[in-house]
Amino acid sequence: MKKVMLFVLCLALGLLMTPVASMAKIQFVTIGTGGVTGVYYPAGGAISRMVNKKSKVYNLKVTVESTGGSVFNINAVMNGDLEFGIAQSDRQFQAVNGLKEWEGKPQKKLRSVFSLHPESVTLIATDASGIKSLADLKGHRVAIGNPGSGQLGNARDALALAGLDEKKDIKAEYLKAVEAASALQDERIDAYFYTVGHPNGSIKEATAGRIKVHIVAIPDVQPLLAKYPYYAKAFIPMKFYPNATNKEAEVPTFGVKATLVTSADISDEIVYAITKEVFDNLEAFKKLHPAFSVLTKKNMLEGLSAPIHPGAVKYYKEVGLM
Ligand code: GLU
Repeated sequence: MKKVMLFVLCLALGLLMTPVASMAKIQFVTIGTGGVTGVYYPAGGAISRMVNKKSKVYNLKVTVESTGGSVFNINAVMNGDLEFGIAQSDRQFQAVNGLKEWEGKPQKKLRSVFSLHPESVTLIATDASGIKSLADLKGHRVAIGNPGSGQLGNARDALALAGLDEKKDIKAEYLKAVEAASALQDERIDAYFYTVGHPNGSIKEATAGRIKVHIVAIPDVQPLLAKYPYYAKAFIPMKFYPNATNKEAEVPTFGVKATLVTSADISDEIVYAITKEVFDNLEAFKKLHPAFSVLTKKNMLEGLSAPIHPGAVKYYKEVGLM
């Protein structure tokens, strides 16, 4: 009798333990992105789609969250609220070196994984405002970015370049990028800054309405390139926005790169899995968003200033990229 009871007990325990044991192994990680009309959000979706195809192999599920942008993402990764985040390369540099929003507080546990698409500082204005240059922003209502965004810093650098004071010379608004396009079309603002890959939903929305709008050229960026190591010259292809009133084929400005960041506390296995799935399937990955068309395995290792996470390094060494 005792033996039978023991057997039944073992069987019941076994039945109970099997699903629990295999379920417990699945790890969930979340990537912080940006507003849904930007490129970070679909970029996070593309990464999660690549990795989740192999969920069973890695016991890993990647989910995506819409957030306020780069600065929010870095802070959320650093305080453990998110495992991964997409962040501008300039923001990564500032966080790791204790500058700007992180003045005197270098984020020692910040790790880079890889770079993604180039992002350009995009200034879009209504035709009626007459804004044709940075200097013309004077006296206008300008959305320069929400506090968690990457673009707030770029807009401030652009204003400084034109000698404009954020408090005195313009009526600064701190709208989220996702709200800015409709604010422009409703004529509640005259212009907005968005540091973003192209094409994106925000600029499409801003150029699709009744109010005529154009992208403003920021041609003389040499002083910025001389002062900051993370800026490069950039061009916005106007073919993506046929409804904008620009006549030129491309509009000059300055730009950075989108990067994937994580924390030193995230395991090598998880970071390895994400890196491997994106790199091994890069051609399929590139098809998931037109802004990815310029990606190469080589340029995806550029623009990283935080130490590369050891899980990613393991993959890069395996395939001879490092
Ligand atoms: N570069 C923007 C930021 O850091 C986000 C752009 C996007 O969502 O594509 O806030």
